[in-house]
Amino acid sequence: ASAARNDFIRQIVRDDLANGKHAAIRTRFPPEPNGYLHIGHAKAICLDFGIAEEFGGVCNLRFDDTNPAREDPEFVRAIQDDVRWLGFDWAELRHASDYFEVYALAAEKLIAQGDAFVCDLTAEQVREYRGTLTEPGRNSPYRDRSVEENLDLFRRMRAGEFPDGARTLRAKIDMASGNINLRDPALYRIKHMPHPIAGEGWCIYPMYDIAHALGDAIEGITHSLCTLEFEDHRPLYDWCVDKVDLAHSPELLAPLTAKGLPNVAAKPRQIEFSRLNINYTVMSKRKLVALVGDGLVDGWDDPRMPTLQGLRRRGYTPASLRLLVDRVGISKQNSVIDFSVLEGALRDDLDAHAPRRMAAIDPLKFVLANLPEGHEETLVFANHPKDEAFGTREVPFSRELWIEREDFAEVPPKGWKRLVPGGEVRLRGAGIARVDEVVKDAAGNVVELRGWLDPESRPGMEGANRKVKGTIHWVSAKHAVEAEIRLYDRLFSVADPDDESGGKTYRDHLNPDSKRSVRGYVEPAAAAAAPEQSLQFERLGYFVADRRDHRGDAPVFNRSVSLRDTWAD
Ligand code: ATP
Ligand code: MG
Ligand code: MG
Repeated sequence: ASAARNDFIRQIVRDDLANGKHAAIRTRFPPEPNGYLHIGHAKAICLDFGIAEEFGGVCNLRFDDTNPAREDPEFVRAIQDDVRWLGFDWAELRHASDYFEVYALAAEKLIAQGDAFVCDLTAEQVREYRGTLTEPGRNSPYRDRSVEENLDLFRRMRAGEFPDGARTLRAKIDMASGNINLRDPALYRIKHMPHPIAGEGWCIYPMYDIAHALGDAIEGITHSLCTLEFEDHRPLYDWCVDKVDLAHSPELLAPLTAKGLPNVAAKPRQIEFSRLNINYTVMSKRKLVALVGDGLVDGWDDPRMPTLQGLRRRGYTPASLRLLVDRVGISKQNSVIDFSVLEGALRDDLDAHAPRRMAAIDPLKFVLANLPEGHEETLVFANHPKDEAFGTREVPFSRELWIEREDFAEVPPKGWKRLVPGGEVRLRGAGIARVDEVVKDAAGNVVELRGWLDPESRPGMEGANRKVKGTIHWVSAKHAVEAEIRLYDRLFSVADPDDESGGKTYRDHLNPDSKRSVRGYVEPAAAAAAPEQSLQFERLGYFVADRRDHRGDAPVFNRSVSLRDTWAD
């Protein structure tokens, strides 16, 4: 598969290995444990872990847990679960908080070198001094503090002497830089809040840029892959790596050696790629949190959610998501992928891998009145039309069937190939049947069909070769298992739910018909599916036995995707 994947990042890796820049490569996936992973993260995961795998390297899972206010152990667990589910495993599980002591020593080194200073400006003043894209910033009045004063103040920040926001440690770079990220960015801020892992000992926390750059260096990451919005941060990333120079500063790594954490200091290279965006979807964590928090969906793993947990419950397979990422490819071009590409990847995977079954999700009784009362038999069906390896199964057949209500029309539209009064249709694998009588209730609704099965038309018989327009699916009423069928559709009814023109928000774009629950009947072999087993219900679509609610005696199936793209024009 690696031969087929040949994007600009893989080309860089290939070159770096070929010319001996690196003997082996190391990557990392660095999620912030402040939410569940979504389909966008799948792209980063497939890239970070996939490249390591393809080139014989390793990939770490590193929790970017530098903001204690936003973290939750529930997310930490779910993220690990999701990465493994996608089919990857990490060489080492790390936390940015493992490195807090190293970061603090690095900060002192920067101070000693005259590369960082303690600044007393308020957040608002910092913004004022920063300047704009067209206008250079101004130096902080605290920029020229002595090394001694800066060291003393930084240590007192760490000791807890000052309240939140009173001071920051800032890099001393260039307030006139065309890149605003280089205008003396903050490296540390004060936050009096214990850390879930590092504990009570901390009231200063490193900012993303220094924590990320040094975290990569500590772990010996060779290729640090991230999304394009970090492109403008790359000079700061390099600045942190170069100025701190962990590769030549073993004393800074001492706290890790003491903790028994192996570490390899190297010079990591940040490379950016474009995010995965998909229409009819929101991916901002803030919006996903609100959808769950406000009860607009049934939790993080609601099958309509773009979270990996939601996609999984919907019936998306790891292979389908990896296929999607391969199809989308890796580039620096931002684009929005059509939702149908996601659905197409699932269809292609399930077409090859989902066993076929029969179900009636809007059932109508069809009695084959010429068969004797109590007639039943067992038919043998192939589990997959294109792959004999799937084997066969027994499908019970009897005098009374459930068929799909929409396979019968009293007054057929033009081109109709299914059942009509007096008309014939082929019952999948069972012969040719005709409707003789339409039974209605007092309100005129069709409640039952009665008809005839041509005894000379069973599969294999001469009479079966007779030309009949349509073939429909069915389940034996006596043997069928009643099931809850959850019919999901896209969560949003517009392509760009983030569009706020006309005073609307994503909430106004929710698809009111995105979830419908019906009761239908499935054949016994479908009811017996294990939770998370994907099946094709013939002619209906791909369904998955619900991961949480499905039971053999009370089946629950989620529609993963229809057989064809019903949203296409
Ligand atoms: P937030 O900014 O709310 O924390 P995030 O999307 O940045 O959300 P992280 O946990 O920081 O979430 O992301 C972990 C990794 O996943 C990062 O390297 C990030 O670049 C990558 N990533 C996030 N969203 C996407 C996306 N839509 N496509 C590709 N990669 C993504
Ligand atoms: Mg983030
Ligand atoms: Mg982000």
